[in-house]
Amino acid sequence: MSPQKSLNNVFESLMSDNRIFQNKEVLRHSYTPQELPHRDKEIQSIAQVLVSVLRGETPSNMFIYGKTGTGKTITVDYVTNQMKEKSKEYNTDVDVIYLNCRVVDTQYRVLSKLAQYYGENVPSTGWPTDEVYETFLSNLDEEERYLVVILDEIDQLIKKSGDDILYNLSRINSSLDNSNVSIVGISNDLKVKEEFDSRVISSLGEEEIIFPPYDAVQLKDILEKRTDKAFADDSIDDGVIPLCSALAAREHGDARKALDLLRVSGEIVENKGESKIEQDHVWEAKDKIERDRISEAIKTLPTQSKLVLYSIIALKDVKEKIHTG
Ligand code: ADP
Ligand code: MG
Repeated sequence: MSPQKSLNNVFESLMSDNRIFQNKEVLRHSYTPQELPHRDKEIQSIAQVLVSVLRGETPSNMFIYGKTGTGKTITVDYVTNQMKEKSKEYNTDVDVIYLNCRVVDTQYRVLSKLAQYYGENVPSTGWPTDEVYETFLSNLDEEERYLVVILDEIDQLIKKSGDDILYNLSRINSSLDNSNVSIVGISNDLKVKEEFDSRVISSLGEEEIIFPPYDAVQLKDILEKRTDKAFADDSIDDGVIPLCSALAAREHGDARKALDLLRVSGEIVENKGESKIEQDHVWEAKDKIERDRISEAIKTLPTQSKLVLYSIIALKDVKEKIHTG
């Protein structure tokens, strides 16, 4: 009998084993939690700027800085959603366009996305940039409305394409009669400002909000609240969440890292067919995440760099000192 025949169904054992996760979705990056512990101050600061929309005024442009995993994206998403909801009560027409500049990384792409939002069939390449800009402008200005443009990971856009787009967007209101545009720039790189033209700094940096790293106690709180329903009963040892929090706190207070550690720990236990996540699994998860990250980085290196790396590793065993030159 072939090995496959010994099982009724390949999913049988996978489904009947001890369940670790009850609802794994809440651990995913894309999940939007109901509450954001330890971000009250930042939520307030952003809301104080955006409330202008509800009062019929144009909000100041805003720049948000903080290291990765400090909750910038999720917090802006949370506040703008609430703003949109409230705007219905006030009969205010407000649009929020979110662009991730890691993907939308040229002036043309940003402008074509904006134009496309207002229904124009702008191709992804090909038109003169001026024409895309004018098309966006005229469609936007057809009605009285507010537009909040969120440029997330804006440091990527600046590094690739310079700050022309910011300069152009920051002056846009002077060309509009009916609508009003505000820009929210989000950056993981605190030094991105050094690359800006001073005119961009003065108009975009009207409001600056810094997201500080979470400490271990805050991360523990975040994990506990968020993962309340993630795991099956008794499937997680008391020391696990504090350990994930402490390790992530060491890595510049990164909530994404904390969530990953917890999720991967659970997956390791699940794969082993065990029934409880212990602290040892967290250490294993840490190793696995690091190994995956490094091997991914090496895989994407150009061949020449791989050869250099290989030479160094090969030499390390023969020579005590290596000169790379
Ligand atoms: P950033 O944009 O600063 O890199 P994110 O907003 O993407 O960080 O947050 C990283 C991950 O951590 C996301 O999965 C997010 O949902 C989660 N997260 C961050 N802050 C909190 C918080 N205060 N409460 C719950 N989850 C959070
Ligand atoms: Mg982000």
